[in-house]
Amino acid sequence: MTIPFVDLKAQYHSIKPEIDAAVVRVFESSQFVLGAEVAAFEKEFAAYCGVDSAMGVNSGTSALHLAMLAAGVGPGDEVITVPFTFVATVAAICYTGAKPVLVDINPRSFTMDPEKLEAAITKKTKAIIPVHLYGQCADMDPILEIAKKHGLVVIEDAAQAHGAEYKGRKAGSIGDMGCFSFYPGKNLGAYGEGGMVTTSNPDYTRTIRMLRDWGAEKKYQHVLKGYNYRLEGVQGAILNVKLKYLEKWSNDRLSHAKLYNQLLAGSKVETPEIMDFGKPVFHVYAVRTTERENLMAYLTKEGIQHGIHYPFPVHLLPAHADLGYKPGDFPESEKAANQVLSLPMFPELTDEQIHIVSDAVQAWSKA
Ligand SMILES: *Cc1c(COP(=O)(O)O)cnc(C)c1O
Repeated sequence: MTIPFVDLKAQYHSIKPEIDAAVVRVFESSQFVLGAEVAAFEKEFAAYCGVDSAMGVNSGTSALHLAMLAAGVGPGDEVITVPFTFVATVAAICYTGAKPVLVDINPRSFTMDPEKLEAAITKKTKAIIPVHLYGQCADMDPILEIAKKHGLVVIEDAAQAHGAEYKGRKAGSIGDMGCFSFYPGKNLGAYGEGGMVTTSNPDYTRTIRMLRDWGAEKKYQHVLKGYNYRLEGVQGAILNVKLKYLEKWSNDRLSHAKLYNQLLAGSKVETPEIMDFGKPVFHVYAVRTTERENLMAYLTKEGIQHGIHYPFPVHLLPAHADLGYKPGDFPESEKAANQVLSLPMFPELTDEQIHIVSDAVQAWSKA
C-alpha cells in the first residue's frame, strides 16, 4: 500500500457538497474574475489573519511582486531574503528590478537568522522578506526591530504558513505586509492558482488593488502601470469554503508532526524543532539526515512517497548565478539543502500511516 505525500483528492471528498455548490454559484453568477465571491473571501481572510484588508491575486508570486511595488521597491534598490526558500521569493524581487541580497538561515528553524541580517543592510536596502518556511514563522521580533532602526519595510513570505502564529500574532499580520499562495498543495489551496496580500496599511491596500487590475482605480481610469494579476471567482468561492476548515487542518498537521517527532525519536534522522515562539502549521514535515539518498531508496521500496524542499539553495541555482554568490557563502542553507527530506504530511494523514512511515524510518535506522 502506497502512502502518498499529499492527498488533495481525499480533502475534496471530505467537503465535496460545499465545494460543488460554491463552484455552481460562481458559474450561475458568471462573475468569473474578482467579483462578490472574491470580495467575501478577502474579508474573511483578512479577519482570520487579523489585518484590515486582504487583496486576492492570481498567485503567491504575484502577491510578493505587488507587495514590493507597493512598498516602492524598484531598480537600484536591494531586498534581503534567504537562499533556503522556493525560488519564487527571489524571482519576485528580480521582477521589480531590485537586487536580491541573501542572508543565511538559522539551522534550527530553517528561517532567516536575525543575527546575520544587519550586516547585509546597505544604503540601498528597501525591504526584508523573511520566509515562514515549512509553516513555521521566522523569528520576527528581532527582524522587525532591525527593520525599524533602518526604516525598512518587512514583507512576510507566508506562502507556506496560513494560520501559523508568532507570539500570538498570525502570519501575514506581523510585518508591514504578508504574502500568501493558494497553489493547490499549500495549506489553504485553491483548485488552480491563487494568492493574497494582507496588510493594515490603507496606502498599500489601495495601490495593490489597483496594480492587480491594470492600475485602474475605476474602469478605464488607469492611474498606475498595472498587471493582470486578478484572482478568479471560482477560486475565491472555493477558498472561502476551505477557510472554515483551515484551523482544524492546521491543528491536525501539528498533531501529526508531534506524533512523528515522538515515533522517530532514537532513529537516525533529526526531527524538526518546534520553536517556542509560536505555532507552526507544518506545510512540510522535513527531517534531516546525512544519508538521504539511502533513506529515499528505502522509502521508495516501502511505497512511502517523499520529497525534498528544496534540493538547491537559490544562490546555487543556474537561474540566479548572476547574483554572484558561490558555494560556501551560506553554509547553513547549503547543509540544509543537502540533508532535508520531507515525509508525508497532510491533514487527512492517519495515525496508522504515520506509524507505518515512522516504523520504516526506524527499521532503516537499524539496518
Ligand atoms: C509557493 C511559494 C511561493 C509562490 O507561490 P505561487 O502561488 O506558486 O506563485 C512563494 N514563496 C514560497 C515560500 C512558496 O512556498
